Amino acid sequence: MVTTAWDVAAAVPDPEIPVLDIAEMGILRSVVVDETGHVIVTITPTYSGCPAMKAIETTIVDELKRAGFGDVDVRTQLAPAWTTDWMTDDARRKLEREGIAPPARSGSQDDILCPRCASPDTDLISPFGSTACKSLMVCSSCGEPFHHFKTL
Ligand SMILES: [Zn+2]
Repeated sequence: MVTTAWDVAAAVPDPEIPVLDIAEMGILRSVVVDETGHVIVTITPTYSGCPAMKAIETTIVDELKRAGFGDVDVRTQLAPAWTTDWMTDDARRKLEREGIAPPARSGSQDDILCPRCASPDTDLISPFGSTACKSLMVCSSCGEPFHHFKTL
């Protein structure tokens, strides 16, 4: 199997949620290799001012160089703005397995379900959990605190 520049860039983990890679997060928009071997990677940041984006850029460049791509540029595309709808279904399932309630699909009025017992009877404890992207919730059924990846 040929490892493409896309494969290498797509495998870069999201620093905030290392079980997810940047393709699953919907951060990675495109990877173009021109005829001279120059690689142009386009990413869209998640939350504005997310300090993780600089780390993602550095890792993309490092990993592509390690894979033999010499000349790498990472471009940031701000429009259209990233939303949690860009996260793949795989990403949502992985979040649940980590005990993090995934973001709702936009327009959906679904309750946030407890990732442990699936009860919709959940309450917000704090809008800011371990990172700005997640809020801290508690389940009234099983009493378990959990993180919710905020819907954007
Ligand atoms: Zn529960």
